[in-house]
Amino acid sequence: MSVDRALAVVRERGGDELAERLSFLDARAGASRRVDDVLAAPDADARPEVDVVMAGGGLSLLVAAELARLGVSVVVLERARAGVAHREWNASDRELRPLVEAGIVSEAELERLVVARYDDGFCAFHGGPARHVRGVLDRAVDAGPLLARARAVCEERGVRFLDGAEVTGAAASEHAVRVAHRGGEVLARVMIDARGASSPWASADLVCPTVGGVMRGLRGWDPRVGEILVTTEGIEDGVQHVWEGFPGRPGALTVYLFYYARASAVPPGALARLYARFFETLPTYKEGEGALERPTFGYIPGWSRLVPGPASPSPRIVLVGDAAARHSPLTFCGFGSMLRSFRPAAASIASAIDAKRAPSRDVVPEEPVHAFTGALARLMASGAMRGEALNALLDAAFATLEEIGQETYADLLADRMSAQDFMSFLLRTSAKQPSVYAHVLHGLGPLASARWGLRVAMRARGA
Ligand SMILES: Cc1cc2nc3c(=O)[nH]c(=O)nc-3n(C[C@H](O)[C@H](O)[C@H](O)COP(=O)(O)OP(=O)(O)OC[C@H]3O[C@@H](n4cnc5c(N)ncnc54)[C@H](O)[C@@H]3O)c2cc1C
Repeated sequence: MSVDRALAVVRERGGDELAERLSFLDARAGASRRVDDVLAAPDADARPEVDVVMAGGGLSLLVAAELARLGVSVVVLERARAGVAHREWNASDRELRPLVEAGIVSEAELERLVVARYDDGFCAFHGGPARHVRGVLDRAVDAGPLLARARAVCEERGVRFLDGAEVTGAAASEHAVRVAHRGGEVLARVMIDARGASSPWASADLVCPTVGGVMRGLRGWDPRVGEILVTTEGIEDGVQHVWEGFPGRPGALTVYLFYYARASAVPPGALARLYARFFETLPTYKEGEGALERPTFGYIPGWSRLVPGPASPSPRIVLVGDAAARHSPLTFCGFGSMLRSFRPAAASIASAIDAKRAPSRDVVPEEPVHAFTGALARLMASGAMRGEALNALLDAAFATLEEIGQETYADLLADRMSAQDFMSFLLRTSAKQPSVYAHVLHGLGPLASARWGLRVAMRARGA
């Protein structure tokens, strides 16, 4: 299918606003990320009108809601409308608990937000066996109502929203930050940059272009089973394309196609091209005349931890969500990561404001396992592997996880794996696929490979 035809389908099914969002994201992909306008920093005697200004009102609204609960005043500036979801999300029961604990939803509301529950999930690589896992990514969450609820809670708690306010620049002094948007300026004590992949500071080295959406009419799936990672071909056009299939409301399957890439290698328009491939190759994944009911897409940034991570230019500007890219560089589960981090992040910002100091730059807690898995994601994005090499490696890796046990398998996908378990997983996988050492060397280069190997070995020994 041509790119123009694919874009026409997205517009037809998703409407003009969604089509505009796709071109906004595609114009700012990878190397062409926008740079903020240069502004003068606030004067030393400038008086902030609000504690926190949040740029971007997507999933990070959870942080705004929690800040408001802690008594912090917040203004949200959103280029479109805040609290509108363009995704479908999966997580586990355990990860969803903070939504109730933070008073964003009641138990009963959470029950209603979970539109599907799976008994099981699996990963399968190009004709290989399904590698089953339980207890992870097994709840499909209705993203639209969740974000609408987060906005309503924010409003009840006094958060002010400016929709249609695209942030164009920010400048901080020691005590305040000036944030410019299309309709004016706001002076705050702290700015939270929650603009996701479009933030000028979202400099993570990896990215996962992802397209697809909610589909009906497809056959060959089970409503009680989540398809976490599935490949139907080898490396094509230099990348390994991966499918996901998550059952949602009765009869609906959310299908995504994505690939791992180095952020600097993704040219503008990558999502539009991926949509063309999605429609063309969907029959290799599922049978039936599938109709796209609701398109969902995006660039999910990932940080390999082999290079410096995204950082803001000032302690008064804090990165959260995809802009910070502290989530797993392997699974790119930013939703799960936000569920775990929005309360600690808000508590850290609120206590800094209370103490009249700048927040710590790293308000999103780092999971130790990412220091190990980032290199694997970087390897997959490196283009160092050809043909079926990556499928063979992935199948060996997931066969190993199956052998080690369900708990460890789920731990890896939910960012909980320990260094010791990771070391044993690596050794067992490389015994099955010794060529992995050559691929790592080729994909990461000798220096990064040595640094990473040393880091894993030291952490595994408890150093
Ligand atoms: C298709 C897809 C499926 C996903 N599925 C899952 C999943 O199943 N499980 C999981 O854990 N994670 C999933 N993720 C990842 C997850 O959705 C993200 O990690 C999460 O949405 C990041 O939240 P955020 O607030 O940082 O950014 P976003 O939710 O992307 O929000 C950013 C907001 O900033 C706004 N904005 C951008 N620029 C400006 C500007 N200049 N001024 C003002 N506003 C601006 C945007 O309009 C947007 O509303 C998925 C991602 C995609 C793309």
